Amino acid sequence: MKLDSRAAAILDRAYADRSPGREDCAYLLSFDENSAEAYMMRSVASHIVRSGNDNSGIILGQIGLETAPCPGNCGFCSFGRDHTAFQKKRIDDEEFVTKLTEFCKDDDLYGIYLMSMHEYDPEFLLEKARVAKKLIKGSTQLLSNVGDTDADMFKEMKKAGITGVYHVCRIGEGDVTALNPETRMKTMQNALDAGLQIFSCLEPIGPEHSIDQLVDNMFIGIDQGCTQHAAMRRAPVPGTPLAKYGQISNLRLGQIVAVVALATFTMPSMTYMGVHEPTEIGYVSGANVVTAETGANPRDHVADTSDNRGMDMAACRKMLFDCGFKYIRRGNEDKIILDERYIEEHG
Ligand code: SF4
Repeated sequence: MKLDSRAAAILDRAYADRSPGREDCAYLLSFDENSAEAYMMRSVASHIVRSGNDNSGIILGQIGLETAPCPGNCGFCSFGRDHTAFQKKRIDDEEFVTKLTEFCKDDDLYGIYLMSMHEYDPEFLLEKARVAKKLIKGSTQLLSNVGDTDADMFKEMKKAGITGVYHVCRIGEGDVTALNPETRMKTMQNALDAGLQIFSCLEPIGPEHSIDQLVDNMFIGIDQGCTQHAAMRRAPVPGTPLAKYGQISNLRLGQIVAVVALATFTMPSMTYMGVHEPTEIGYVSGANVVTAETGANPRDHVADTSDNRGMDMAACRKMLFDCGFKYIRRGNEDKIILDERYIEEHG
């Protein structure tokens, strides 16, 4: 088989622990998703990532705390104020405890996100974080996924037990959203300044995006020194303005996952690589994070995503097992052997 020589050289350098930079990432992304080079980059990324951590994957969980018509008004999100059908709603105490307990009961959840809208009630979030911190008996890390936030609030989150935050500056931020890209970037810096880890993502990818847009966006997380990175394709949520553009294939998403994985695996801060939504192709392309979701989800039009798009813990374990991972990592990096017996006992 004859591969394009420049692509082959980029992949050879990756095996020598040298990640592709911006130009090489753009070059890899220029190949058709069904080309030999694209299949090769997915395989190389997966092999390198799995070789670097004993073929382990992790499970993250997410609990949506609040839903409301959101002034972020993102053209891809089911909560955008100008197009949403959601009303203001908040999770009650009993439901929160039940969901958290269910997520954490087997101590194989690496981290749990508490998710809210762009505008959120800081006291409500901190109260839920304190409750969660007390309820989590095992090693699960406490994380947040909220709107733009200053450093003081992030310090309060840290005091409440939160160790990392998901925050991104989305593709087209400020054009297809009502938010300010500089403020989104400043929020990431605020989190770092408060001593929190940043979980980043190249998102939300649609068919209309150029390679330059993808590269620029993925390097935001890289330049910030993210702890996790990921790639997410945009879901064409019915009723959202950007749904008309449709969706990229999971094969193309896998190729993008591979390029992000190759660009990040040499970063000292980088730990795990995600794909949204979870697909087998993503897990043979360098991803090793699968996310279980319940409650509100911007990619879903139903109030509780576990009734529709979201995967539960059993489905996440099975996904990792089916994709050939040998271990699940706990939040303290301990390894759990992922075999048929574990799947049967925790199904
Ligand atoms: S993606 Fe976030 S900020 Fe944007 S509309 Fe949805 S909830 Fe609001």
